[in-house]
Amino acid sequence: MDLNKQSVQKRLVREHLENIKFSQSDRVASSPELEYNIETALKKNNAVLIAHYYTDPKIQELAEKTGGIVSDSLEMARFGASHRADNLIVAGVRFMGETAKILTPEKRVFMPSDEATCSLDIGCPPIEFSNFCDKYPDRTIVVYANTSAAVKARADWVVTSSIALDVINYLDECGESMIWAPDKYLGSYIKKNTGADMILWDGSCIVHEEFKAKGILDLKKVYPDAAILVHPESPDSVVELADFVGSTSQIISAAKRLSNENFIVATDAGIFYKMNQMMPGKNFYIAPTAGSGATCRSCANCPWMAMNNLENLLFCIEHKSNEIVVDGSIAAGAKKSLNKMLSFRKTT
Ligand code: SF4
Repeated sequence: MDLNKQSVQKRLVREHLENIKFSQSDRVASSPELEYNIETALKKNNAVLIAHYYTDPKIQELAEKTGGIVSDSLEMARFGASHRADNLIVAGVRFMGETAKILTPEKRVFMPSDEATCSLDIGCPPIEFSNFCDKYPDRTIVVYANTSAAVKARADWVVTSSIALDVINYLDECGESMIWAPDKYLGSYIKKNTGADMILWDGSCIVHEEFKAKGILDLKKVYPDAAILVHPESPDSVVELADFVGSTSQIISAAKRLSNENFIVATDAGIFYKMNQMMPGKNFYIAPTAGSGATCRSCANCPWMAMNNLENLLFCIEHKSNEIVVDGSIAAGAKKSLNKMLSFRKTT
């Protein structure tokens, strides 16, 4: 992509951020009454709560308590498709709600906020992406799950970070050259580890992009025995320091498997709810984003995930607000690419 195009991607994300009012204070304090009302509303509306690891811990707790799920985007999609509830309440960001709707069109899908999106999605507009693909007609198009339904419909494959390496390895062994979008860091990580012929779109996650190698090395001096766990949306210099690189669910499994007592974790801090719950005897430290000194100054919270809170969750269930609707032809195209991913996992 040329420099002019790169600045377009950055501008789109910046403009979106400037136009949306959010802050960490969007994460509300616990309210037993609010939680009780959410539980009641879920039952009354035959709805199930599907939450991502990066959402407010109170939302994650409620999802588990009410028979829903807390997971990564792949398992969220699978769970929604197999659950018998008529209404899926997706606490996460827009592409997760769209994926749920595409895979289960017979169900209604609602989200607490209709503004919760993702810098990767914003930075990969469907028309520009389609034009980009047109330049390389012989390449297989593989896109990350963090994209709009229209971008998924333009692709041959959709992957999540938990199976990206496996799928690209498979395609590489089949002799295919590829276009990868939108995360350039994840693309670079996959390219290095598979040797596959990939052209990368220039997108990034504004949360993971901020982790700094220097800050992690300084924190490691404080906890020399700590294992460093890194999500591959992080820059190459951070990935190079990792004892383990993987998706959110793979990071949790690695922390369970490794015998270390301390861990430095480079992903959204929302994951600590699940890590602390599953491993109460271990200590987790968020990787710094500021890069100087041993004190963690990371914000490491996705501003769009933080738009999900208990109040708008209750409102969305009671009022059936922010319903996800996906155009029929786009949904059909996206479903083909998504189904390849779901079938691929089942056979490996
Ligand atoms: S953490 Fe990054 S990749 Fe995940 S939703 Fe937020 S901006 Fe997107």
